[in-house]
Amino acid sequence: MDQITNYLQEQFSAMIELTEKIINVDSPSNDVAGIQKVADILSAKMKNLGMETRQRDSGKQGMVLIGELPGEKELQPVILLGHMDTVFPKETVKQRPFKIEGDQMTGPGIFDMKPGLVIGLFTIQALVKLKLNRRPIKMIIVSDEEKLHMDSNTYDIIADECRGGAYGFNLEGTKDDPSHVGTHNRGGMIVDVIVHGRAAHSGAEPEKGRSAIIELAHQIIKLSALSDLQAGIHVNCGMIKGGTSENIIPDRVTTSLGVRFRTNQQRDRLLERIKLIAATPTVPDTTTTVKVRTKIDSMEETPAD
Ligand SMILES: [Zn+2]
Repeated sequence: MDQITNYLQEQFSAMIELTEKIINVDSPSNDVAGIQKVADILSAKMKNLGMETRQRDSGKQGMVLIGELPGEKELQPVILLGHMDTVFPKETVKQRPFKIEGDQMTGPGIFDMKPGLVIGLFTIQALVKLKLNRRPIKMIIVSDEEKLHMDSNTYDIIADECRGGAYGFNLEGTKDDPSHVGTHNRGGMIVDVIVHGRAAHSGAEPEKGRSAIIELAHQIIKLSALSDLQAGIHVNCGMIKGGTSENIIPDRVTTSLGVRFRTNQQRDRLLERIKLIAATPTVPDTTTTVKVRTKIDSMEETPAD
């Protein structure tokens, strides 16, 4: 361990240099060209360490970069996971490029999670240079984590590539104390709630209309009340889309919910309750459809700590 720590201390400025390089490329999830630039920088580093690299097409959202370091054949690989996309739009780097002030680095993606990729790569470098690596190591870096892999098959690629791994480490930082290793994270799903009412002219025949927006307003209060922060549950009505004009009683409105939970059991229960709210309208003659946009897996529960 001392050997590794000493080696990495010597590599400190090289680590900063690589961090600066990848921070200073805008790579929002939907920017295929930006993502590719980051992937090229990372691939070059991987090849330099004797890793074999390949890219798997994940559909509309670009690709998954995979780097493999060979090891003893009979040993299962260690998996390192990460993502190279950020939540920041193009041109963010122009406004606030990588910077060091005192002992703090800033720049888009500095916390979430480009430096994690650098840490992963230099850990591999330390193991290679000090000839300490025995197990094969496989690094899987995705390009649409911030979109929860909604429009891609990244999710399936991760599951496929992780098969047969001995251990997995995600290189993303923890929220509280950066010196801690996170042992769990909350799950998330995105749910669309679509309310259908009946359109009518609000001046000529308001009695014929059934407002989808009023119905959704009632539902939003009930949906938000599902949140239980202590239990790790949060339901965020993050977006609303609907209506056509001030004088038309709206016949359709959609809200997109960002739902967070700790366990798959909570998730299933939440989904049941969301569906129940949808099935019991306040405004008569309205109907509501619930659509889960993210993929739902049936993996075993991971222990909370
Ligand atoms: Zn992240």
